[in-house]
Formats: sequence, structure tokens, C-alpha cells
Amino acid sequence: MKTIFAKSVPGRSAWRLNSDAPKAADMLPAGLLRQDPPRLPECSELDVVRHFTGLSRLNYSVDANFYPLGSCTMKYNPKFTEYVAALPGFSRLHPMLPQLTRGVAWAQGALRCLYEAEQWLCELTGMKAFTFQPMAGANGEFAGVKLMAAYHAAKGRKRTKMLIPDAAHGTNPASAALAGFDAVNIESRDGMVDPEALARAIAEHGENVAGLMMTCPNTLGLMEVHLPRIVEELRRIDALLYYDGANMNAIMGKMRVGDVGFDVVHLNVHKTLGTPHGGGGPGAGPVGVGERLLPFLPAPRVIKNGDSYRLNYNLPQAIGYIGPFYGSFAVVIRALAYMMRLGGEGLSRASEYAVLNANYLKKKLEDVLDIPYAHRLCAHEFVASAPDGLHALDIAKGLLDRGIHAPTIYFPLIVKECLMAEPTETESRETLDEYVQALTEIVAQGKADPQGLAAAPVSLPVRRMDETAAARQMVLTEDMA
Ligand SMILES: *Cc1c(COP(=O)(O)O)cnc(C)c1O
Repeated sequence: MKTIFAKSVPGRSAWRLNSDAPKAADMLPAGLLRQDPPRLPECSELDVVRHFTGLSRLNYSVDANFYPLGSCTMKYNPKFTEYVAALPGFSRLHPMLPQLTRGVAWAQGALRCLYEAEQWLCELTGMKAFTFQPMAGANGEFAGVKLMAAYHAAKGRKRTKMLIPDAAHGTNPASAALAGFDAVNIESRDGMVDPEALARAIAEHGENVAGLMMTCPNTLGLMEVHLPRIVEELRRIDALLYYDGANMNAIMGKMRVGDVGFDVVHLNVHKTLGTPHGGGGPGAGPVGVGERLLPFLPAPRVIKNGDSYRLNYNLPQAIGYIGPFYGSFAVVIRALAYMMRLGGEGLSRASEYAVLNANYLKKKLEDVLDIPYAHRLCAHEFVASAPDGLHALDIAKGLLDRGIHAPTIYFPLIVKECLMAEPTETESRETLDEYVQALTEIVAQGKADPQGLAAAPVSLPVRRMDETAAARQMVLTEDMA
């Protein structure tokens, strides 16, 4: 695509001021007036519209195509949640309006939405209460481990070790480290937390273990079979269990994490509950707690008093400020609209279809890719390895040429040449079959003509790039040449 500057024609313009419009020179002190005109492209309105519409078409999105990016739950989120969040009563509400002044209920509706969204999340997870302060999953993890630290501090002790299975998302050890813990790696065996490795870590660090951060189903897409034993081991030393709820899409209505022994959970509502995910936000990472961590939730909390709602700041043991109490408000509204529309049964069905789709895809791909843990049913996602001699990266790039987003690759780290796909409940069987077909062709191409596949993508504006350099030394100009 030509840059907007290349489309510039001297003197062309998309606007014209009335002749009686005030002049800058009459309004600003001379010292503030610029000497030279800014270097801006000179274009007609249509040039500008075409330019930006063209750029937007270079974006890949779920609205356009299949997006099986594992661990990200790139499902289609219905447009009605956008409609609800955009209602003027929500979108034009100032966050600092008084809750109630001289009988005027300025923000009662918003407080009620927060309160009810909290009730829904409690019902979904079996937790006692939620805070909406964290702005994303990782921010929720940070808040969650801070709550764990507060629990131990209230008992007059400082524990420094956080146990983290090796299949964990990279944000888990990062959040633990940010909150001042040392992450202790727990190896897995057969895709599960190895109970022996866990017992060894507990024997070594004992009373210094603050807790364990679990993802379940884990990032291999497998339900943890040793959960009761893990809970028991940690309870024995009064350590806490953190549930990374990014994979909630697998278990809605099937398992309530509060019921099986977890003390704290964050949810990625932008993955599971009605907010489109991607492009860097907005997200939300509400954190829920059970009885033991309840006193430490950040202030203020929305409470219900008869028919009205107010904020309670009187929480002496609360951890410090994580974010505003209303969080990513529009994201919370989308989640509430989504949960109310689907209802308990609908949410449960969503998880059933998510798991069904993943297992369908996994089975269909058994002859195309190497599938570790093939003997087990997967949850909402599964991992595969590129067949011998092929690279996950080349296969991923081959998919781009076929108009399909790549799955997550080289994660989790414990699977070689890993391709991790999460089809989600919103994809049809036809789409899944097309994905299988595309992978079948790519693998055949890779075996017959490895060099050809190594050149992919050939159909996109940008070909193979140095991905590290692309992330670290971003070129923020339009001059893509
Ligand atoms: C996405 C994800 C996170 C981090 O969530 P963000 O909202 O991206 O910060 C944490 N854990 C797992 C397993 C995830 O998939």
C-alpha cells in the first residue's frame, strides 16, 4: 500500500473554513504561532477514507476469519454486548459521579451492574467476592498474589516461594516475581503436575511456600488429575491455591474452582465473557476470593443496602490500589450482558461446545500432526507437534497464506515444535474441516518442498521478518516500502 504521504497532492484538502471563522493569529499570542506549516499529507476526504479502510483490511480479525490462537479464546463475541456497552447510560456516565447526592441516584445503575456482575462471577466460580480493579489477566495475577502475601502477613509471617508448574503461562512467574516472590518451577509428568516433584518442592521449601499457581485445564489442554492431592499438600502447610482462570472457557457450569479448593482466581473476561480479545485491549481481569482472602480485597467494594448500592471504603486489611473500583467498566458491562443473555445453561453449553470442537479437531488431525497425550480427551484446546523434519513456524506461516490465523506456536515450552490450537465453541464444523484441510496440504507441501514452505507467507504485505527485532525496534512510520 502507498503511504498517505505518497497520496498527498499539494493544495488538495478535505476541509474549508467559513470566511468569517476566527483566525489563529487573532486568538494566540504571536510567540505561540508556528512559523512553518506542519508537514501533513494533503488529501481529499475520499482519499483519507480509502486509505484507512485499506489499512483496516490488513487487520486480521475473528469477524473476518478463523482464529485458533491457543490459550487466547479468540471466539466470536456477539455484537449485542457491544450494543449494550455503548448505551448512553453506560458509555456517557462519568466515573466520578457521586453515588447518591440529596436523593439523586446518579450512579446507582452502574453500581448495581457492578454488584450483579460480581454475583454472577461468584456463582460461576464458587468464590465469595470479586474485585473489578485489575485491568487484564496478568494484572489480576499480580493482585491475586498480593492477596496471598497479605494473608501470610496477617498471620505474622513472610513466605517467599511461589510454586508454578512448568506448563504455566509466562505471566504467572512474572506476576509472582513482581509481587516479590521467587518462582519455584514444578516439573510435569505425562502432562500433569508431577506429585513427586511437588512433594519434593514442599519438603525443600516447607513453611516458606506461600502458594501454588495453577492453570486447570492446563496449557496442554488437559484437566489436572492430581488436583485433590495438590490441594491437600498445600493445605497441610497453610499455603494458598491460585487459579489462573484464563482457561475458564473449558469449565463454565462444570467445575467451580472455589468448590474444589482454590482460594483465589482471576478471570480473563476478554477471553471468556463477551468482549472481543486482541489488539492490546481493552480487557479486564477481575479477581475472586474465597473465605480466607476475603478481608484483603482492595477497597472500595460495592455493597447493597436495601434497594440501594454504595461503596464501602472501610476495609482496614485491604491491599492497596490496583485500579479504579469500576475497572474496565465497559468490559464488565459486556460480561454482565453476556452472562445474563446466555444464562447458566447457556454458559455451560458454551463450554461443552468448546470442548467438543477441540476434541473433534484433535481427532481429525491425528494423521496430519503428531499429537502428544492423544490417549486423553482434551479440554477446550490441545497441543500438537510438527511432524518430524518440519517446523511449527513454517506450518504457521503456511496457514497465513491460506487466510487462516496461526495457532499459538512454541508454547507451552515442554512440547517440541508445538502448535497449540483452541477452536472455541463459536466455530462451525465446516470451518474446522477447512482448517484440517489446510494443515493437510501444508504438511504435504512441507514434506515435498521444504524450501517452498520455508518461504511462506508469500501473499501478505509483509513476508518473514525478524520477530524479535520487529517487537523491540518497531518502525512506527508508514514507510513500509
Ligand atoms: C491470556 C493468559 C494470561 C494473561 O492474561 P492477559 O489478559 O493477557 O494479561 C494468563 N494466563 C493464561 C493461561 C492465559 O492464557
